Amino acid sequence: MSTFRHKALSEFSSHKMERFSVETKPISAFFGQNVFDLKKMRNYLPETAYDAVVQAIEKKTRIDRSVAAFVAEGMRTWAMERGATHYTHWFHPLSETTAEKHEAFIKPYSNGCAIEQFMGDSLIQQEPDASSFPSGGLRNTFEARGYTAWDPSSPAFVMDQTLCIPTIFVSYTGDALDIKTPHLKSLRALNSAATDVARYFDPDTESVNVIYGIEQEYFVVDLSLYRARPDLMLCDRTLQGHTAAKDQQLEDHYFGNIPSRVMAFMKDFETEAYKLGVYIKTRHNEVAPNQFEFAPYHEEANLAIDHNQMIMMVMRKLAKKHNLKVIFHEKPYEGINGSGKHCNWSLCTNKGINVFSPGKTPQDNLQFLSFIACTLKAVYEHHFLIMSTVASLSNSYRLGGSEAPPAVLSMFMGSTLAELLDLIEKGGPKSKKDVEQARMEIVGMVPEIFPDNTDRNRTSPFAFTGNRFEFRAIGSSANCASSMLFLNTAVAQQLKNFKTQVDNELNSGLKQEDALIKVIRKFVKESRDIRFEGNGYGAQWQAEAARRGLRGIKDVPASYKSLLESKTVKLMEETEVMSRRELEARFEVKNEMFVKKLQIEARVLGDLAINHFVPTAIRHENLLLNNVRGMKEVFPADEYEELASTQLKAIRKTAGYVNDLRNLVHVLIEARKKANKLESLQKKAAAYAKDVLPLMDQIRHCADHLEMIVDDELWPLPKYRELLFLR
Ligand code: ADP
Ligand code: MG
Repeated sequence: MSTFRHKALSEFSSHKMERFSVETKPISAFFGQNVFDLKKMRNYLPETAYDAVVQAIEKKTRIDRSVAAFVAEGMRTWAMERGATHYTHWFHPLSETTAEKHEAFIKPYSNGCAIEQFMGDSLIQQEPDASSFPSGGLRNTFEARGYTAWDPSSPAFVMDQTLCIPTIFVSYTGDALDIKTPHLKSLRALNSAATDVARYFDPDTESVNVIYGIEQEYFVVDLSLYRARPDLMLCDRTLQGHTAAKDQQLEDHYFGNIPSRVMAFMKDFETEAYKLGVYIKTRHNEVAPNQFEFAPYHEEANLAIDHNQMIMMVMRKLAKKHNLKVIFHEKPYEGINGSGKHCNWSLCTNKGINVFSPGKTPQDNLQFLSFIACTLKAVYEHHFLIMSTVASLSNSYRLGGSEAPPAVLSMFMGSTLAELLDLIEKGGPKSKKDVEQARMEIVGMVPEIFPDNTDRNRTSPFAFTGNRFEFRAIGSSANCASSMLFLNTAVAQQLKNFKTQVDNELNSGLKQEDALIKVIRKFVKESRDIRFEGNGYGAQWQAEAARRGLRGIKDVPASYKSLLESKTVKLMEETEVMSRRELEARFEVKNEMFVKKLQIEARVLGDLAINHFVPTAIRHENLLLNNVRGMKEVFPADEYEELASTQLKAIRKTAGYVNDLRNLVHVLIEARKKANKLESLQKKAAAYAKDVLPLMDQIRHCADHLEMIVDDELWPLPKYRELLFLR
């Protein structure tokens, strides 16, 4: 009997490692060759056009249409030299994927000839017929059009012979239909608020850049085995599968030797990444078998996001060449660790000073404490909102387990900084009567908090790691801009608030340092409850967090309501990052995605149960039945009874599971039908979470047990022990 699984397994074991041509030149020799960066612009653009682009990037100014024509011409010339035949506006719709619609440069010329052309207007703006993207109702009224518009702060690049132009995606009425638009606005808001505060310390500060260093976890699986699993193919995760006897218990995969097939894949995508101007810095095995991580060097936030999305795209494409499939899903396998996307976050002034780096002078240290205090306050005030932005169906399978951050937000500061904050909160060292001296003492303590001095707490969703914060709750498949934009905005709000309060103190006659210390202390006190240094995985913390009034995600669709809370609307509107309409649209889209994804999972599981597991179980049952019938013929009755007893039990067990599966799938279909009838997306999502999801667990439970009792020869899907280990 040959199942799909056996075919896949034989393909898997006969897989020969091909020799891939590896770049032998030093990386610096080809780094950035597929990016139209400033260096190339200098060669391909007239001086006025070049200056306009530099201005647009640095000062966020608009580019004139007449100038755009020169930029487009230069871009096309360069891209064609790199083999490009098409161009596309590349954007990030709300579905958290990337989107592209290719247009050829070519255009008819007289006498059946053709010429290549790329107009300035086509660079600046396009109107893709993108009406099928989720818009949360922003486009279903009188105007269905969506426009993409060039984002000059992220350079164009060539991929697959196509010139890709990073763009924002907005509706006719100017509402954001994408993630990039509000993200850029959040960066602008944070830049402006942070610059104002940084000027207390250096009046010449011109701007503050937001910096991200994004660590990306992922799984790989053999392509043949992947194709033999409908659940992986359609849902990116396994909906069934008994745990392998050995998976991650021995911790032998983590930081272990990278399997050679994966290594070849890594080298391949890293080379492409370098050509695209991405500084990939680290690669290693993660905790679960077949799980890996890469992290590029940190850089400006908008670029970091585009780069992360670009590399995910490159990895998906290149994996096939290696007969692999890359999986970005947060929890492809039950029972072993899932994947996250850690976003390391810091703020850097135009003078190159990281405000989260404890400095050498008391001035620097006050700056450090000011920004720390504002971040604490921002995360405290909007902890539920920030946490809910990472909530998705796929991330919900990972969050809150003992491998990923808990579903309630808290901040870990490390013992030295925590002690210092406690001290600040209490009003400084008690022994010192002299305020001036107490202040100096506080400020003087800061240099001790160097990166080496901060302990690592892997159980915290938001940790200070010496010169930056690491937000660890984001899911591996997400575009992390959709979470970070809320964090940026919340911090911008508190920096503004901080400035107003400090200025008030200054106006009432306090010296600058005293005014700063006073407001820092106030912020640290007010945000006390967000700080937690203990074990985030422990049950105690759950109780403690509840006592402190910290709200966590219990139910994904319910948490989306945070987007509509008046506190959120006020935050997003007063900083001009998002309007109420845009928030409402996002709320709709999030619910819609939740429902649709769960709908697909429920359908696939129903199909697997009825068309794969039940027939397999019946085949197995028939084998046992035949065997028992034969025994009855051969053995005398008393002997038969004894010998057949365990077989009969096994038949009963199998028949029981078959029965349960059929019944449960029936109930599942009814629950879906009932939920589908609900008009409101929000109610539909709630019904899916409450009524459909638990049934899927029950079905899985039966199927996993069946896998353990059914003849291995008959089992149709590759098992965990087969999926999880590459040579
Ligand atoms: P970890 O030990 O947490 O796994 P990694 O080395 O995998 O760390 O990744 C750390 C990430 O943090 C890298 O992308 C790195 O460039 C980034 N990073 C380092 N310093 C900063 C900073 N000041 N701001 C933002 N990101 C930073
Ligand atoms: Mg790491």
